[in-house]
Amino acid sequence: MKRTEAEQRFTGHPVAPGIGIGPVHEAAEPELAVASRQISIAEAETELARLNEALERSRKQLHKLKHRLAALPENSQAELAPLMDMYLHMLGSSRLLKGVRQHIEIELLCAEAAVQTETERQADVIMAQQETDKAGRLRRAEEVRELGRRVVRNLTRQPFRNFTALPAGSILAAETLRPADAALIQPERFAGVFTAEGGTEGHTAVMLRALGLPAVLGAEGALESIKPGTLTIIDGDTGEIIFNPSRASMEVARKKLAAQTRARRALAQLAHLPAVTRDGTRVELQANLELPLELPMIAQSGAHGIGLLRSEFIFMNRETLPDEDTQTRIYSTIIESMEGEPVTIRVLDWGSDKEVETLSRFLPEELEPNPALGLRGIRLLLHHRELLETQLAAIIRASALGPARILLPMISQAAEVVEARACLARVWRRLKRRKGMTLPGAPPPLGIMVETPAAALSAPVLAKYADFFAIGTNDLTMYTLAADRALPPSMGLYNPLTPAVLRLIHLTTRFAAAAGIPVSLCGELASRPQAVPLLLGLGVRQFSMHANAVPAVKQTIRAAALAACEALAEQALVAESADDVSKLIEDSLK
Ligand code: PEP
Ligand code: MG
Repeated sequence: MKRTEAEQRFTGHPVAPGIGIGPVHEAAEPELAVASRQISIAEAETELARLNEALERSRKQLHKLKHRLAALPENSQAELAPLMDMYLHMLGSSRLLKGVRQHIEIELLCAEAAVQTETERQADVIMAQQETDKAGRLRRAEEVRELGRRVVRNLTRQPFRNFTALPAGSILAAETLRPADAALIQPERFAGVFTAEGGTEGHTAVMLRALGLPAVLGAEGALESIKPGTLTIIDGDTGEIIFNPSRASMEVARKKLAAQTRARRALAQLAHLPAVTRDGTRVELQANLELPLELPMIAQSGAHGIGLLRSEFIFMNRETLPDEDTQTRIYSTIIESMEGEPVTIRVLDWGSDKEVETLSRFLPEELEPNPALGLRGIRLLLHHRELLETQLAAIIRASALGPARILLPMISQAAEVVEARACLARVWRRLKRRKGMTLPGAPPPLGIMVETPAAALSAPVLAKYADFFAIGTNDLTMYTLAADRALPPSMGLYNPLTPAVLRLIHLTTRFAAAAGIPVSLCGELASRPQAVPLLLGLGVRQFSMHANAVPAVKQTIRAAALAACEALAEQALVAESADDVSKLIEDSLK
């Protein structure tokens, strides 16, 4: 830790609150395990298609990296930009690629083995060129290998990061983290996390909030300036990252940390008080669960039940699909630990930024043209019913131990709910026929996520088939505004406070009330205390959020008056922009 060096500051998007102080370390790339497989002539075409897809991904990543260089000082740019250009050139029509294709077409090697064989061969050729100096040859050979590793990782979708080797108490830094990578982080081992890529409402951000670690995503230029072990402050509230903090900066950070601990303790006092507005309207607060390690946090938060269990974690970072017994065990543990409070289990929502390698091997290219608009969520499950039926069977079995509900993701039309309901009935009959099963009296209620504009607009029809609604504002915003949820907020495209989104929320609560079915809101918006009065005004009475947010949201609810919330909502619904809505919220707080 060199305190003599100058302080350096970077800013990204604040994603999970809190101050973290510790030595910074970049997540190491794990060893690549490449299985060399001989293919048949008939398979060669598929392998070439896989190769092309991986090359395209690699190109996109390199273009992004190159774009980010603009944030760096000129001398670093001068060094790195030609390297990116060279990588991009090698990914074009280079000798390297010709060689790889020949290994596939002639020697009948699978794509990953072909890439590895050819990069090693090229590296050997470079090393044999006696006319250049050895250091230069070593560097160029390593560059070819590095490019090969990128392509192989994109072919095999192996996790890019390995966190176990990093010293305890570190600030973890990475170029990018996928949700599956975030699921591997043990929060007790780290003081904070930052990445160079990512926005605030993507699935990785959701996972990081679940871990309760101070986190900043999209900190451009920070990664390139890391010296491993440098003392670093990360501020998950402002998005600031400070390398080699001055004495004064350390003092500020320590004071903030102490103030946050005091505020958290004060909020914890609210855990046992009811969530009720000043005029006596009862509100239900539940927790979202991304990973089982959140269970103790949920128990302490004062949440009553789990409003959204994102079951994706069960499928992440494993070689094979989890079978019915494995899933039953996981759901049973969670249901039991909730001691009679309801648990809403959402069936697998795979696709878009929720990438699960186990499944990409089973379900390749058909999803690729635009993953957010393809076979995501329920669509995928209805194409591969064995996935849905296994999961439904496990949830039914586990629900013998306590109240559970089943939630369907990405619904856009009634037929999907009808088909899923038919699957549930079939699985139920099958389980009844099995000997020695302990089953509940009836299958759990079946509800739907309202996270596409189509679902919100068709809510009266969907209510005929669904037992409850859960509004997912993360995706509802993305699909309403045609703006990716992982985009940085600074671009001004993605904002759940946009009046068009608020109108869809309002429609959904009104339609649910008319149909007499429960409705909750479980997107990230639910965890923003400033937005909660507006949501109350739009008719939301049940919220589900990451456990850490429950106390502050409860505090806001206890200070709110429903008439004022409704007046705010009325104005927001006819506002012209998200900025206008933010202004209305600010004014209402004065
Ligand atoms: C949502 O889209 O708002 C939601 C809660 O689901 P997820 O974030 O898991 O897509
Ligand atoms: Mg969603």
